[in-house]
Amino acid sequence: MDNCIFCKIIKGEIPSQKLYEDDEILAFRDVNPAAPIHILVIPKKHISMLTELKEEDEVVIGRIYTVVNKIAKQENFDEKGYRVIVNCGEDGGQEVKHIHFHLLGGKRLGDKIVG
Ligand code: 5GP
Ligand code: ZN
Repeated sequence: MDNCIFCKIIKGEIPSQKLYEDDEILAFRDVNPAAPIHILVIPKKHISMLTELKEEDEVVIGRIYTVVNKIAKQENFDEKGYRVIVNCGEDGGQEVKHIHFHLLGGKRLGDKIVG
C-alpha cells in the first residue's frame, strides 16, 4: 500500500526503532508512547484492520502473540506483565489503517481499559 505509514516503515522508507523482525512480522517502538514501554507489532502483509482479516491470516495473527512474548522476554518485562490492545475502526479509535498490536507496559497500567 503506497500511502501506508507502516508499509513505509516495513520498507525502511520511514525510520523506526526496530525490536524484532522476521519474514512476516515487524515490531518497533511507538513514536508517541502512551506508557514507558509502547511497542507496535505488525504483520508485514498490509491488512487494514481486524474486520478485514481473512482465514489465511489466522496463522500470522496467532504468531504475533508469540512475538509479543519474545519481545517481553528480550526486553525483560515478561515477569512484570503487559497489556496488548488492538484498535479497530472509528469507534475503536484506529488512526493508522494497517493492523497493529499495541504492546504496553513498564508501569502498573490503569484498572480501566476504557477511559
Ligand atoms: P492507532 O490509534 O491507529 O491504534 O495507533 C497508531 C499508533 O501509531 C499511535 O500510537 C501512533 O503514535 C503511532 N504512530 C503513528 N505514526 C508513527 C510513525 O511514523 N512511527 C511510529 N513509530 N509510530 C507511529
Ligand atoms: Zn500498510
